[in-house]
Amino acid sequence: QKVQLAAAREERILVLVRLRPLSDQEIVANEVADWECINDSTILYRNTLREGSTFPSAYTFDRVFWGDCSTKQVYEEGAKEIALSVVNGINSSIFAYGQTSSGKTYTMNGITEYTVADIFDYINRHEERAFVLKFSAIEIYNEAIRDLLTSDNTQLRLRDDPERGTIVEKVTEEPLKDWNHLKELLAICEAQRRIGETSLNERSSRSHQIIRLTIESSAREFLGKENSTSLAASVNFIDLAGSERASQALSTGTRLKEGCHINRSLLTLSTVVRKLSKGRQGHINYRDSKLTRLLQPCLGGNARTAIICTLSPARSHVEQTRNTLLFACCAK
Ligand code: ADP
Ligand code: MG
Repeated sequence: QKVQLAAAREERILVLVRLRPLSDQEIVANEVADWECINDSTILYRNTLREGSTFPSAYTFDRVFWGDCSTKQVYEEGAKEIALSVVNGINSSIFAYGQTSSGKTYTMNGITEYTVADIFDYINRHEERAFVLKFSAIEIYNEAIRDLLTSDNTQLRLRDDPERGTIVEKVTEEPLKDWNHLKELLAICEAQRRIGETSLNERSSRSHQIIRLTIESSAREFLGKENSTSLAASVNFIDLAGSERASQALSTGTRLKEGCHINRSLLTLSTVVRKLSKGRQGHINYRDSKLTRLLQPCLGGNARTAIICTLSPARSHVEQTRNTLLFACCAK
Protein backbone atom coordinates (compact mmCIF):
# COMPACT_ATOMS: atom_id res chain seq x y z
CA GLN A 1 0.00 0.00 0.00
CA LYS A 2 2.84 2.37 0.91
CA VAL A 3 4.72 1.69 -2.32
CA GLN A 4 1.66 2.59 -4.35
CA LEU A 5 1.80 6.07 -2.88
CA ALA A 6 4.27 7.23 -5.51
CA ALA A 7 2.84 5.15 -8.34
CA ALA A 8 -0.64 6.53 -7.87
CA ARG A 9 0.74 10.01 -8.27
CA GLU A 10 2.45 9.38 -11.54
CA GLU A 11 2.98 12.45 -13.73
CA ARG A 12 2.45 14.62 -10.73
CA ILE A 13 4.65 15.76 -7.92
CA LEU A 14 4.70 13.76 -4.73
CA VAL A 15 4.54 16.14 -1.78
CA LEU A 16 5.68 14.89 1.59
CA VAL A 17 5.76 16.88 4.80
CA ARG A 18 8.12 16.29 7.70
CA LEU A 19 7.60 18.01 11.05
CA ARG A 20 10.68 17.73 13.22
CA PRO A 21 10.50 17.66 17.03
CA LEU A 22 11.52 20.67 19.12
CA SER A 23 15.29 20.65 19.51
CA ASP A 24 16.95 20.50 22.94
CA GLN A 25 18.00 24.11 22.47
CA GLU A 26 14.45 25.16 21.71
CA ILE A 27 13.17 23.33 24.77
CA VAL A 28 15.77 25.04 26.94
CA ALA A 29 14.65 28.37 25.44
CA ASN A 30 11.06 27.59 26.50
CA GLU A 31 9.81 27.25 22.94
CA VAL A 32 6.32 25.85 22.50
CA ALA A 33 5.32 23.41 19.74
CA ASP A 34 2.28 24.86 17.98
CA TRP A 35 2.02 22.19 15.29
CA GLU A 36 1.06 18.59 15.64
CA CYS A 37 0.29 15.69 13.33
CA ILE A 38 -2.89 13.86 14.17
CA ASN A 39 -2.53 11.04 11.62
CA ASP A 40 -0.37 10.07 8.62
CA SER A 41 -1.83 12.77 6.42
CA THR A 42 -2.95 15.68 8.58
CA ILE A 43 -1.01 18.42 10.29
CA LEU A 44 -2.80 20.68 12.71
CA TYR A 45 -2.15 24.18 13.99
CA ARG A 46 -2.88 24.13 17.71
CA ASN A 47 -2.95 27.81 18.34
CA THR A 48 -5.79 29.08 16.19
CA LEU A 49 -7.11 31.44 18.85
CA ARG A 50 -4.00 33.55 18.67
CA GLU A 51 -4.13 33.90 14.90
CA GLY A 52 -7.84 34.39 14.42
CA SER A 53 -10.14 32.76 11.93
CA THR A 54 -8.17 33.58 8.77
CA PHE A 55 -5.65 30.94 9.73
CA PRO A 56 -6.62 27.43 8.56
CA SER A 57 -5.97 24.93 11.30
CA ALA A 58 -5.65 21.64 9.40
CA TYR A 59 -3.61 20.78 6.30
CA THR A 60 -3.73 17.43 4.51
CA PHE A 61 -1.10 15.82 2.31
CA ASP A 62 -0.30 12.41 0.82
CA ARG A 63 1.86 11.71 3.77
CA VAL A 64 3.17 13.56 6.79
CA PHE A 65 6.04 12.34 8.95
CA TRP A 66 6.52 13.65 12.44
CA GLY A 67 8.07 13.27 15.86
CA ASP A 68 10.76 10.65 16.23
CA CYS A 69 9.94 9.03 12.90
CA SER A 70 13.28 8.16 11.29
CA THR A 71 14.73 9.35 8.00
CA LYS A 72 14.83 5.67 7.02
CA GLN A 73 11.05 5.66 7.28
CA VAL A 74 10.73 8.85 5.24
CA TYR A 75 12.91 7.20 2.62
CA GLU A 76 11.15 3.83 2.59
CA GLU A 77 7.62 5.18 2.59
CA GLY A 78 8.12 8.37 0.64
CA ALA A 79 11.20 8.83 -1.52
CA LYS A 80 12.48 5.34 -2.32
CA GLU A 81 10.34 4.43 -5.30
CA ILE A 82 11.01 7.75 -7.01
CA ALA A 83 14.75 7.75 -6.27
CA LEU A 84 15.23 4.16 -7.45
CA SER A 85 13.41 4.68 -10.74
CA VAL A 86 16.88 5.75 -11.91
CA VAL A 87 17.90 2.08 -12.27
CA ASN A 88 15.16 1.72 -14.89
CA GLY A 89 16.44 4.69 -16.86
CA ILE A 90 14.00 7.23 -15.46
CA ASN A 91 15.26 10.62 -14.27
CA SER A 92 14.14 11.87 -10.90
CA SER A 93 14.55 14.69 -8.42
CA ILE A 94 14.06 14.75 -4.68
CA PHE A 95 13.89 18.21 -3.14
CA ALA A 96 14.04 19.38 0.44
CA TYR A 97 12.16 22.66 0.86
CA GLY A 98 11.86 24.56 4.13
CA GLN A 99 13.20 27.35 6.29
CA THR A 100 16.72 27.20 7.70
CA SER A 101 16.93 24.80 10.68
CA SER A 102 13.76 22.91 9.73
CA GLY A 103 15.66 19.70 8.86
CA LYS A 104 16.43 19.82 5.10
CA THR A 105 20.04 18.68 5.32
CA TYR A 106 19.26 16.12 8.03
CA THR A 107 16.59 14.59 5.80
CA MET A 108 18.43 14.86 2.49
CA ASN A 109 21.74 13.39 3.66
CA GLY A 110 19.98 10.32 4.99
CA ILE A 111 17.93 9.85 1.85
CA THR A 112 21.01 10.15 -0.36
CA GLU A 113 22.82 7.50 1.68
CA TYR A 114 19.88 5.05 1.67
CA THR A 115 19.46 5.49 -2.08
CA VAL A 116 23.11 4.75 -2.78
CA ALA A 117 22.99 1.67 -0.56
CA ASP A 118 19.94 0.40 -2.46
CA ILE A 119 21.50 1.16 -5.85
CA PHE A 120 24.60 -0.86 -4.94
CA ASP A 121 22.35 -3.64 -3.74
CA TYR A 122 20.50 -3.56 -7.06
CA ILE A 123 23.76 -3.58 -9.02
CA ASN A 124 24.98 -6.64 -7.10
CA ARG A 125 21.77 -8.51 -7.80
CA HIS A 126 21.87 -7.79 -11.56
CA GLU A 127 25.12 -9.28 -12.75
CA GLU A 128 23.78 -9.62 -16.28
CA ARG A 129 24.22 -5.88 -16.69
CA ALA A 130 27.33 -3.72 -16.38
CA PHE A 131 26.80 -0.56 -14.34
CA VAL A 132 28.67 2.69 -13.84
CA LEU A 133 27.52 4.95 -11.04
CA LYS A 134 28.82 8.51 -11.04
CA PHE A 135 28.61 11.17 -8.36
CA SER A 136 28.76 14.93 -8.82
CA ALA A 137 27.97 17.79 -6.48
CA ILE A 138 27.48 21.47 -7.14
CA GLU A 139 26.34 24.51 -5.28
CA ILE A 140 24.29 27.33 -6.79
CA TYR A 141 24.91 30.53 -4.92
CA ASN A 142 23.73 33.88 -6.21
CA GLU A 143 23.14 32.21 -9.63
CA ALA A 144 26.79 31.11 -9.76
CA ILE A 145 27.63 27.42 -9.98
CA ARG A 146 30.54 25.93 -8.08
CA ASP A 147 31.92 22.40 -8.03
CA LEU A 148 31.81 20.99 -4.50
CA LEU A 149 34.32 18.22 -5.24
CA THR A 150 37.23 20.55 -6.02
CA SER A 151 38.80 23.38 -4.06
CA ASP A 152 38.94 25.33 -7.30
CA ASN A 153 36.62 28.28 -6.90
CA THR A 154 35.97 28.99 -10.58
CA GLN A 155 32.43 29.43 -11.69
CA LEU A 156 31.07 26.60 -13.83
CA ARG A 157 28.90 27.27 -16.85
CA LEU A 158 25.83 25.60 -18.19
CA ARG A 159 25.91 24.41 -21.76
CA ASP A 160 23.22 22.98 -23.99
CA ASP A 161 24.39 19.62 -25.27
CA PRO A 162 22.46 18.20 -28.22
CA GLU A 163 22.49 14.70 -26.72
CA ARG A 164 22.54 15.17 -22.99
CA GLY A 165 20.49 18.36 -22.62
CA THR A 166 21.74 21.09 -20.29
CA ILE A 167 25.00 20.07 -18.68
CA VAL A 168 27.41 21.68 -16.24
CA GLU A 169 30.63 22.18 -18.15
CA LYS A 170 33.75 20.64 -16.56
CA VAL A 171 31.97 19.42 -13.46
CA THR A 172 33.78 16.63 -11.61
CA GLU A 173 32.06 13.30 -12.08
CA GLU A 174 33.48 10.75 -9.68
CA PRO A 175 32.82 7.05 -10.32
CA LEU A 176 31.37 5.83 -7.04
CA LYS A 177 33.09 2.71 -5.68
CA ASP A 178 31.00 1.87 -2.66
CA TRP A 179 29.03 3.30 0.19
CA ASN A 180 32.13 4.35 2.17
CA HIS A 181 33.31 6.26 -0.88
CA LEU A 182 30.02 8.14 -0.82
CA LYS A 183 30.61 9.14 2.82
CA GLU A 184 34.05 10.47 1.85
CA LEU A 185 32.63 12.52 -1.02
CA LEU A 186 29.84 13.94 1.15
CA ALA A 187 32.45 15.02 3.71
CA ILE A 188 34.42 16.80 0.96
CA CYS A 189 31.27 18.63 -0.16
CA GLU A 190 30.51 19.76 3.34
CA ALA A 191 34.06 21.01 3.84
CA GLN A 192 33.84 22.93 0.54
CA ARG A 193 30.63 24.59 1.61
CA ARG A 194 32.17 25.78 4.87
CA ILE A 195 35.04 27.64 3.22
CA GLY A 196 34.89 31.36 3.80
CA GLU A 197 31.78 31.18 5.92
CA THR A 198 31.35 31.81 9.60
CA SER A 199 28.94 28.91 9.82
CA LEU A 200 27.62 26.23 7.54
CA ASN A 201 24.09 27.39 8.23
CA GLU A 202 24.86 30.87 6.97
CA ARG A 203 26.00 29.47 3.64
CA SER A 204 23.36 26.79 3.27
CA SER A 205 20.60 29.24 4.04
CA ARG A 206 21.53 31.11 0.85
CA SER A 207 22.66 28.43 -1.55
CA HIS A 208 21.30 25.30 -3.18
CA GLN A 209 23.24 22.05 -3.13
CA ILE A 210 22.60 19.52 -5.87
CA ILE A 211 23.99 16.03 -5.63
CA ARG A 212 23.56 14.06 -8.80
CA LEU A 213 23.95 10.31 -9.21
CA THR A 214 24.13 9.18 -12.79
CA ILE A 215 23.76 5.51 -13.53
CA GLU A 216 24.67 3.97 -16.86
CA SER A 217 24.12 0.33 -17.65
CA SER A 218 24.25 -2.06 -20.54
CA ALA A 219 23.66 -5.78 -20.96
CA ARG A 220 26.95 -7.65 -20.56
CA GLU A 221 26.32 -9.99 -23.47
CA PHE A 222 26.19 -7.04 -25.83
CA LEU A 223 29.10 -5.11 -24.30
CA GLY A 224 31.30 -3.58 -26.96
CA LYS A 225 29.04 -4.78 -29.74
CA GLU A 226 27.39 -2.43 -32.14
CA ASN A 227 23.86 -3.20 -31.19
CA SER A 228 24.47 -2.75 -27.46
CA THR A 229 21.82 -0.57 -25.95
CA SER A 230 22.57 1.29 -22.78
CA LEU A 231 20.39 3.00 -20.23
CA ALA A 232 21.41 6.24 -18.59
CA ALA A 233 19.53 8.31 -16.06
CA SER A 234 20.14 10.62 -13.13
CA VAL A 235 18.66 11.10 -9.72
CA ASN A 236 19.15 14.50 -8.11
CA PHE A 237 19.10 15.32 -4.41
CA ILE A 238 18.47 19.00 -3.95
CA ASP A 239 19.03 20.65 -0.60
CA LEU A 240 17.44 24.03 -1.32
CA ALA A 241 18.35 27.42 0.13
CA GLY A 242 16.28 28.35 3.19
CA SER A 243 12.76 29.12 2.04
CA GLU A 244 12.72 32.26 4.22
CA ARG A 245 14.85 33.72 1.41
CA ALA A 246 11.99 33.38 -1.05
CA SER A 247 9.47 35.07 1.16
CA GLN A 248 11.93 37.85 1.95
CA ALA A 249 12.44 38.46 -1.76
CA LEU A 250 8.71 38.43 -2.40
CA SER A 251 7.90 40.76 0.45
CA THR A 252 10.56 43.30 -0.48
CA GLY A 253 9.39 43.20 -4.09
CA THR A 254 11.59 44.77 -6.75
CA ARG A 255 13.03 47.34 -4.38
CA LEU A 256 15.69 44.93 -3.33
CA LYS A 257 16.98 43.64 -6.63
CA GLU A 258 19.78 41.76 -4.96
CA GLY A 259 17.41 39.81 -2.79
CA CYS A 260 15.51 38.71 -5.86
CA HIS A 261 18.70 37.80 -7.65
CA ILE A 262 19.93 35.64 -4.79
CA ASN A 263 16.66 33.78 -4.76
CA ARG A 264 15.83 33.64 -8.41
CA SER A 265 16.31 29.88 -8.47
CA LEU A 266 13.99 29.38 -5.53
CA LEU A 267 11.29 31.65 -6.95
CA THR A 268 11.49 30.12 -10.41
CA LEU A 269 11.32 26.66 -8.90
CA SER A 270 8.10 27.61 -7.09
CA THR A 271 6.57 28.80 -10.35
CA VAL A 272 7.67 25.70 -12.26
CA VAL A 273 6.39 23.37 -9.55
CA ARG A 274 3.05 25.18 -9.38
CA LYS A 275 2.60 24.88 -13.15
CA LEU A 276 3.66 21.24 -13.22
CA SER A 277 1.30 20.33 -10.39
CA LYS A 278 -1.60 21.78 -12.34
CA GLY A 279 -0.58 19.66 -15.33
CA ARG A 280 -0.48 22.82 -17.36
CA GLN A 281 0.41 22.32 -21.00
CA GLY A 282 1.58 25.89 -21.56
CA HIS A 283 5.05 27.31 -21.47
CA ILE A 284 7.14 26.58 -18.41
CA ASN A 285 10.01 28.98 -17.85
CA TYR A 286 12.75 26.53 -16.98
CA ARG A 287 15.33 28.88 -18.41
CA ASP A 288 14.62 31.64 -15.90
CA SER A 289 17.09 30.24 -13.37
CA LYS A 290 20.18 28.05 -13.22
CA LEU A 291 18.51 25.52 -10.94
CA THR A 292 15.46 24.90 -13.11
CA ARG A 293 17.45 24.99 -16.33
CA LEU A 294 19.81 22.35 -15.03
CA LEU A 295 17.01 20.17 -13.65
CA GLN A 296 14.67 20.50 -16.60
CA PRO A 297 15.22 16.91 -17.84
CA CYS A 298 14.57 15.70 -14.30
CA LEU A 299 11.37 17.69 -13.76
CA GLY A 300 8.11 17.16 -15.58
CA GLY A 301 7.72 14.96 -18.65
CA ASN A 302 8.67 11.37 -17.86
CA ALA A 303 10.71 12.37 -14.85
CA ARG A 304 9.60 11.69 -11.30
CA THR A 305 9.66 14.35 -8.61
CA ALA A 306 9.22 14.35 -4.86
CA ILE A 307 9.33 17.41 -2.64
CA ILE A 308 9.89 16.95 1.05
CA CYS A 309 8.72 20.03 2.91
CA THR A 310 10.42 20.30 6.28
CA LEU A 311 8.85 22.16 9.19
CA SER A 312 9.82 23.38 12.61
CA PRO A 313 7.04 23.09 15.22
CA ALA A 314 8.29 26.10 17.21
CA ARG A 315 5.94 29.02 17.89
CA SER A 316 8.61 31.54 16.91
CA HIS A 317 8.73 29.97 13.41
CA VAL A 318 5.00 29.99 12.78
CA GLU A 319 5.10 32.42 9.83
CA GLN A 320 7.71 30.40 7.95
CA THR A 321 6.00 27.13 8.76
CA ARG A 322 2.81 28.48 7.29
CA ASN A 323 4.64 29.72 4.18
CA THR A 324 6.14 26.27 3.68
CA LEU A 325 2.72 24.64 4.04
CA LEU A 326 1.27 27.05 1.49
CA PHE A 327 4.06 26.12 -0.92
CA ALA A 328 3.37 22.43 -0.22
CA CYS A 329 -0.34 22.92 -0.91
CA CYS A 330 0.45 24.64 -4.22
CA ALA A 331 2.74 21.80 -5.26
CA LYS A 332 0.39 18.89 -4.57
P1 ADP B 1 18.33 22.87 7.58
O1 ADP B 1 19.23 22.09 6.67
O2 ADP B 1 16.91 22.93 7.10
O3 ADP B 1 18.86 24.23 7.91
P2 ADP B 1 19.16 20.90 9.52
O4 ADP B 1 18.96 19.66 8.73
O5 ADP B 1 20.56 21.39 9.63
O6 ADP B 1 18.24 22.08 8.99
O7 ADP B 1 18.51 20.65 10.94
C1 ADP B 1 18.66 21.57 12.03
C2 ADP B 1 18.94 20.78 13.32
O8 ADP B 1 17.82 19.97 13.67
C3 ADP B 1 20.11 19.82 13.18
O9 ADP B 1 20.82 19.83 14.39
C4 ADP B 1 19.45 18.48 12.95
O10 ADP B 1 20.25 17.42 13.40
C5 ADP B 1 18.16 18.60 13.73
N1 ADP B 1 17.03 17.85 13.11
C6 ADP B 1 16.44 18.15 11.94
N2 ADP B 1 15.42 17.32 11.66
C7 ADP B 1 15.36 16.46 12.70
C8 ADP B 1 14.49 15.34 13.02
N3 ADP B 1 13.50 14.96 12.20
N4 ADP B 1 14.73 14.68 14.17
C9 ADP B 1 15.72 15.06 14.99
N5 ADP B 1 16.55 16.09 14.76
C10 ADP B 1 16.39 16.80 13.63
MG1 MG C 1 20.98 22.74 5.72
